[in-house]
Amino acid sequence: MFDATIAGSLPKPFWLAETNKLWPQWAVSGENLATAKRDATLLWIKAQEDAGLAIVTEGEQSRQHFVHGFLEFVEGIDFEHKVKMGIRNNRYDAMVPVVVGPIRLKGRVHATEARLARAHTQKKLKITMPGPMTIVDTIADRHYGDKARLAMAFAELLNQEARALEADGVDVIQFDEPAFNVYMDDVSAWGIDALHRAIEGLKCTTAVHICYGYGIKANLDWKETLGGEWRQYEAIFPALAKSRIDQVSLECANSHVPMHLIKLLDGKDVMVGVIDVASDTVETAEQVAGTINQALKYVAREKLYPCTNCGMAPMSREIALAKLEALGAGAALARARVGG
Ligand code: ZN
Repeated sequence: MFDATIAGSLPKPFWLAETNKLWPQWAVSGENLATAKRDATLLWIKAQEDAGLAIVTEGEQSRQHFVHGFLEFVEGIDFEHKVKMGIRNNRYDAMVPVVVGPIRLKGRVHATEARLARAHTQKKLKITMPGPMTIVDTIADRHYGDKARLAMAFAELLNQEARALEADGVDVIQFDEPAFNVYMDDVSAWGIDALHRAIEGLKCTTAVHICYGYGIKANLDWKETLGGEWRQYEAIFPALAKSRIDQVSLECANSHVPMHLIKLLDGKDVMVGVIDVASDTVETAEQVAGTINQALKYVAREKLYPCTNCGMAPMSREIALAKLEALGAGAALARARVGG
């Protein structure tokens, strides 16, 4: 009960990459980079275990960014001539690569870190990948000419990697779809179809993470415009409840999401965001247990997974570590109260 996990990413140590950045430059190169990625992965697995998390990730230490970390392994994309594009419905600009031909995987994407993590933890292991809709929203397209078609093409590649990760011993494969909270109509039109393509044939647990973004300024400004109640989930949860995805991760801590919307996910495992990643204030175990307790009104205890609201990549290492500990301690406290 209350198996704690994180959305996925953790900060990179200064000897691996620039700190406190969403798109950091690597600090070293070549063999040193491979070694630093490996060391950072092991460090964060240990930290998650020590914090009492039940499902751990490799902390996304091997990728520069959660979307482009996948795209670098895809043929048919021009990374040399990036273009500036407004993403997440023009919430902010990003320099994005361009699809210039049919896309195909160059080889395995996350094999190194997944196998490393698998060899070094007895806990359940989760690997995250960007969802098809979010990829399509973070890349320019000069070949496919249709978002849904391009999303399906990416979903096929995600599925290839997902099947291979399952064979590597990964327990949970999660797709990150922050774009689901932005293009709500597209979710039922083709977003869920694309997710289904991505999970085709998988026997392991599948998850989708839908959030209001990292704690960067553009996202904080956007949240200011969403009013007193954030009801984006209301538009997409009914369709997700009918989907074949096992788990849905959502933002709750310090957000304006009405908690009763969780009820719309009836039947799903719910990863309840109990840690705010947009604030450096570290939650107390009491606060985390309190959020879990509130969510219990809307989801059965055996289906509730305490989680972070989103990834912690751009945060300071010290604060992320303290938040991991608060997550584990809060889940334990809630477990003691409910189970005891
Ligand atoms: Zn997120």
